[in-house]
Amino acid sequence: MKCEHKSCGNKEKVWLPFTSREIEHGLKSHPYCVHCGAVKNISSDMPKRIGYYINIISHIRKNFRISDVQVRLIVNELITEDFEDPYWTTRSAQERMFLAALNKYCNLPENAVKPLLS
Ligand SMILES: [Zn+2]
Repeated sequence: MKCEHKSCGNKEKVWLPFTSREIEHGLKSHPYCVHCGAVKNISSDMPKRIGYYINIISHIRKNFRISDVQVRLIVNELITEDFEDPYWTTRSAQERMFLAALNKYCNLPENAVKPLLS
C-alpha cells in the first residue's frame, strides 16, 4: 500500500549526501518518513504530477504517428506507486522512466522528445 509519508521531527533528521539534479553537494540534514523510512528529497529536483507527462504523451500522439494502444502501454508503465512520490522520486528519475517507456513502445528519436520535457 502507498505510504502517506510523515516526516520525522527536526531533532531526528539524518545527515546524508545532498544531491540535486544528480550532482552531489556535500552533506545536509534530511527528514525521513517515520512510517516507511524513506528519506525525503529536499532538492529542487522535485517530481511532477503524472498529468504533466500524460499531457506530453498526448502532444506526442498528435504530432507523431503513435496509436492509442501505444499511449496506453506507456501510461501503464508510468503509473506506479512511486512515480510521483515526493520522497522517493526526483524529476530527473521521472524523465528517465518516461524516456525509457517511450523507447520501449515506440520508436521516436530522443531529440524530438527531450525538448518537450523542459
Ligand atoms: Zn512513508
